[in-house]
Amino acid sequence: MGSWDNLKCLTRFARTYIRPRISRFAVVQLMHVVAVLLLLVPPLLIRYIIDRVVPEGNLSALLICSGSIVVVFGFFGVIAGLKTYWGHEVAQGITSRLRNDLYSHFQELSMSFHDHKKTGGLLARIVDDINVIQEIVHHGPEAIVLAVVMISTTAGLLFYLDWRLALVAMTVVPLLVIFAGKTSGRMWQQFREVRKRKASLSDVLEENLSGISIIKAFGSEDRERRAISEQNAGHYRSRMGAVKYVSVLFPGALFINNVGLAAVLVFGGAMAMGGAISVGTLTAFILYLGYLLHPIIRMVMMMEQGGQFLASMERFFDYMDIAPAIRDLPAARNLDRVQGEVKFEDVHFRYEDKSVLNGVTITAQPGQMIALVGPSGAGKTTIVRLIPRFYEPYQGRVLIDGRDLRDFTLRSLRSHIGMVMQDDFLFSGSVADNIAYGKPGAAAEEIVEAATLANAATFIEQLSEGYDTEVGKRGLRLSEGQKQRVSIARAILKDPRILLLDEATSSVDPETELLIQKALDRLRRGRTTVAIAHRLSTIFRADQILFVEDGRIVERGNHHSLIEQDGEYARFFRIQFATLSAV
Ligand code: ATP
Repeated sequence: MGSWDNLKCLTRFARTYIRPRISRFAVVQLMHVVAVLLLLVPPLLIRYIIDRVVPEGNLSALLICSGSIVVVFGFFGVIAGLKTYWGHEVAQGITSRLRNDLYSHFQELSMSFHDHKKTGGLLARIVDDINVIQEIVHHGPEAIVLAVVMISTTAGLLFYLDWRLALVAMTVVPLLVIFAGKTSGRMWQQFREVRKRKASLSDVLEENLSGISIIKAFGSEDRERRAISEQNAGHYRSRMGAVKYVSVLFPGALFINNVGLAAVLVFGGAMAMGGAISVGTLTAFILYLGYLLHPIIRMVMMMEQGGQFLASMERFFDYMDIAPAIRDLPAARNLDRVQGEVKFEDVHFRYEDKSVLNGVTITAQPGQMIALVGPSGAGKTTIVRLIPRFYEPYQGRVLIDGRDLRDFTLRSLRSHIGMVMQDDFLFSGSVADNIAYGKPGAAAEEIVEAATLANAATFIEQLSEGYDTEVGKRGLRLSEGQKQRVSIARAILKDPRILLLDEATSSVDPETELLIQKALDRLRRGRTTVAIAHRLSTIFRADQILFVEDGRIVERGNHHSLIEQDGEYARFFRIQFATLSAV
């Protein structure tokens, strides 16, 4: 990335994230300057005490000067406290906005983006980038302002006190910059390596633990333990590599500083002996020299991190600039009332370069049930996904009540569509929260009614805390059959005109199967339903069965007509439901 791009990125960052907090940001920088200026005062007072007050034996002046030193440090303390607090407030404000923007953007991106398995890793990396940005937003300007103001004012004062001794004292600055620059450069490089290793260690661990049942089943615990242990050792080595530089940086810099101090003592001491400077001036020199060490190290370290900051910021904006593939068209309007007719007109679709639907035409009248049947990979799920516009055909149209889906806003379109998918996701929260997901603020009675219609009420009431029982990631794990009924209740409460159903393939006991079937019957009533059918009940009740093969509807009709036709469907049906071939 060129420096012009860097500048553009920085300007964009400042405009978007710093400008809304510019006054607080500026106050914090000003406080850094004031803090430095306050620190410059005590050595001058000490010099005055040594050179004038002590030789004159002026006790009241001694008390006044010492008291002033206390006051100066008191002010310094207050300012340091405030700037730490406000500095963090600004940085946290920026970070929290970065995170919100990131999440909103992540939500807006289309399914085609989320399909990439790498999104989890990408998100983790961007969160890492945000942490880098936060760190530098707070400490970067502080380090630079402190160093610039401290070095320039201290140098000015030293030259004012005695230019010859100032030259000796200042030789330490370039030495410190070079040493700290080189060491911290290597240190950050090593820390980058640590981060990479840590990320890969957590990736491996996560993958490994999610496959724990396979590991146990195949008795491969030792092999996996060795693999993790190797990753862990890599992380350990890189971390210790970084620690090596940390261990050298501060003691090394302190040593250089103390060599400078010794030089000042030798030259300054000799000058004081010859009467060229006072003992007070020599003391002030020594004190000022002590001030230089930390600002220099911090600035050099921040400069090193600056590159990382720019890279993180660039990645963040690159990500924020990814446009959602599917969004509201400028003329899109709200879809208010829906009759429920769903149509596909010669729809062609591909995932990236893989052609999946090759001219699909469907008409579902309001209230009808369409069952999609066909071999695995034929394109059934893809057909269903086009209805809420998760994806878009590259040729042909999908229509609701005769209007192209693209005429409507995504949100209003999806508000009329309910989905009950295989292995539906339950969020962390209570059973009631999960049922009310599609209708936030639903009354308790509505939730119970939906659960009753979904044949879920009985088992929910038997849970330890009934509707308040925690489920999802943090809570109780429901059985497949129970989960399905909770998601049916969720769809019932949403009360959509159009229902998309991907029936679960996993089998449940006949009693539960019957409960689910009845619940689905109630859910389907009065709605247009497009179902990926795995249940005989759905197939038999369907107004139309569409047999999907290689992205085409190759046969259509009801069950009996298709069986009579004795084509692909009949063959598939016999194989799939072999025990029922007599039907
Ligand atoms: P199944 O009954 O096994 O669920 P299906 O009929 O529902 O199959 P689809 O899930 O629609 O079939 O998949 C159709 C084809 O598209 C398959 O070859 C599949 O590999 C591919 N496919 C599905 N989803 C994606 C995706 N997100 N990105 C790329 N290819 C995909």
